Amino acid sequence: MLNKVIDQAQVAHFAKWMERAEKIVIVSHVSPDGDAVGASLGLWHFLNTQEKEVNVVLPNAFPDFLKWMRGSKDILLYERYKEFADKLLAEADVVCCLDFNTASRAGAMSEALLASPARKALIDHHLAPDDFCKIVISHPEVSSTSELVFRLICAMGCFGDITKAAAECLYTGMMTDTGGFTYNSNRADLYFIIQQLLSKDIDKDEIYRKVYNTYSESRLRLMGYVLTQMRVYPLLHTAVISLTNKEQRRFNYLKGDSEGFVNIPLSIKDMTLSCFLREDSERAVIKVSLRSVGSFPCNRLAAEFFHGGGHLNAAGGEHHGTMEEAEALFREALEKYAPLLQYPESEN
Ligand code: 5GP
Ligand code: MN
Repeated sequence: MLNKVIDQAQVAHFAKWMERAEKIVIVSHVSPDGDAVGASLGLWHFLNTQEKEVNVVLPNAFPDFLKWMRGSKDILLYERYKEFADKLLAEADVVCCLDFNTASRAGAMSEALLASPARKALIDHHLAPDDFCKIVISHPEVSSTSELVFRLICAMGCFGDITKAAAECLYTGMMTDTGGFTYNSNRADLYFIIQQLLSKDIDKDEIYRKVYNTYSESRLRLMGYVLTQMRVYPLLHTAVISLTNKEQRRFNYLKGDSEGFVNIPLSIKDMTLSCFLREDSERAVIKVSLRSVGSFPCNRLAAEFFHGGGHLNAAGGEHHGTMEEAEALFREALEKYAPLLQYPESEN
């Protein structure tokens, strides 16, 4: 049996909205990841079985390794079809906001999202959501938004309407947001849900290969290069990797090629914190990604130094300036957070 997570009154409220709505739009955050796409498409497949007019609108492109997912070709990218997406948002009865906690994470779409007269429901697992949705289903303790979508559908009594395609999408979101069930994945319920998804005939091993074993040769070489350039601060149990525009050009960088790089330094013995700085030429910012193990608060550091946020062990932000400045800022952050990073080896 699944433990109850979502409040039953919220489930009933959401179910009532779904029953009455004809036009539903599902949206998620900029640079959509496996959970953003998986949760959105999982809910989309389910609502299609309820015979609703439902569309998924994402702010910008998602990585190629998610393009095998059924329904991914039907996703509308806001940056490409702004006018049509604006119309969908303006005419929707309900907008479901998935996997983000503040309207600004919807990027260029946030204005249209806030302006839409539709009823809005938030389904998310980030801390402290802003007040822009009437129904707020926010559970930072769960693995992923995809898990929450699964729970919500089940709580509405609709497990039977979860198709194989929906199950594949939801599994993908749960798998990618937990690094293949290696972090944020200690709750026993998670494995009950996986069992339920497997009962829908999904092939989890194949999903793993489709998501993780799809490197291009140049991506693997780029990874090798980035790791040889890595700086390690052993006393602070911290590693930093970076990627400039020039280096990206040298390795024929394609969007998504550095996905997951930030996790690799944590495979060094006794590492607590990993930081990845990438120059984003499209948006003229340095994108900052942070990962930690244990209780180090990546989200606090990201908020304090890089206008960002996120989870305790996975957070991000950005710096509007040069790579050198971003690196200096991170060193400054390390100095401030040193007490949380220095610990006697014996304690480890
Ligand atoms: P990633 O490092 O994979 O880009 O992001 C990890 C997590 O950090 C995301 O799931 C999100 O919660 C958070 N995050 C990343 N970038 C930003 C940002 O610019 N602003 C905020 N508020 N959160 C971010
Ligand atoms: Mn997520």
